[in-house]
Amino acid sequence: MYPHKVGPLLLLALAMFITGVRAEWLSDEQAIMGTAVRVELWHEDDTVGRAAIDAVMRDMYRIDRLMSTYKEDSELSRVNREAATRPVAMSRELFDLISRSLEVSEITEGAFDITYASVGHLYNFRRKTRPSDEILEKALPAIDYRHVLLNKENHSIKFKRQGVRIDLGGIAKGHAVDRAITLLQARGITQAIVSAGGDSRIIGDRRGRPWMVGVRDPRREKEMAAILPLSDTAVSTSGDYERYFELDGVRYHHIISPASGRPVTGIRSVTVVGQDSTTMDALSTSVFVMGVEKGLSLIESLPDVEAVIIDAAGRMHYSSGLLRRQSP
Ligand code: ADP
Ligand code: MG
Repeated sequence: MYPHKVGPLLLLALAMFITGVRAEWLSDEQAIMGTAVRVELWHEDDTVGRAAIDAVMRDMYRIDRLMSTYKEDSELSRVNREAATRPVAMSRELFDLISRSLEVSEITEGAFDITYASVGHLYNFRRKTRPSDEILEKALPAIDYRHVLLNKENHSIKFKRQGVRIDLGGIAKGHAVDRAITLLQARGITQAIVSAGGDSRIIGDRRGRPWMVGVRDPRREKEMAAILPLSDTAVSTSGDYERYFELDGVRYHHIISPASGRPVTGIRSVTVVGQDSTTMDALSTSVFVMGVEKGLSLIESLPDVEAVIIDAAGRMHYSSGLLRRQSP
């Protein structure tokens, strides 16, 4: 009866129907860098979305080949073999991430220290072995980020002494997630979440609603201790439950105090929320090492960074920004 009115409405309904059917969240998960890498994104065009996910996964494999200490032929393994003897030239990417690591060491007063690996490599979480006290004490003086000398002119690295090793396990996944987000944005994607183990970053939101990111209960798998509504943010969790073994009633996990060369006690998990994944990854590891009090005061000193800490008694500690958000 009113074709001139019904027409556009019908067209609109039809368009909504079509986009409703064809546009959906695309996702993929793969085991890379010793963890689960997951990409989930929204794009109207399936082909574009799939290609973007593949590009991210390829880049994650590339970073793993570059920075893994488990791969003998990675650039980082070569650095560890040779840098105590002579300066080793590196790719720009590796150089920049090591520089960033040393900056984090400075602001955390050495809590974050990639040379933890000088002792860290003596723990084997698969075989459940740890160094004897004697071997540990001998290796301990090699932990000190100031043993790492970087030359900006030619992107080379040199270790000040024998026995120094570095490992980027506390920051590389965050870096990989940031790279992934840059790749996705370059392809015009505006709504996505990328995770590598405990490191996630979100661009946009979930079609108008925030993503609900759970903070795991460190002692009860599948239970959540808190849920954070997040959009356009990076979030990183460090915990004592991902990689550990128990021996004579002691929990040996993978976050090492640079001062003692032993796994840190006093905290079960740290979740840090802020702008970029590289920084949040390094900060979650750092706060874990620093403890509740020092860790929270570091977080309070940084603009736009918040944290949730679960201590060894299971108590939760929130930074002031999260407390403000929670109160009515
Ligand atoms: P996950 O690998 O579970 O995401 P984290 O972000 O908490 O872990 O980082 C833990 C990793 O950081 C360890 O597996 C190790 O590679 C590295 N690491 C351990 N202790 C330190 C430290 N004091 N400073 C820097 N990196 C560390
Ligand atoms: Mg970390």
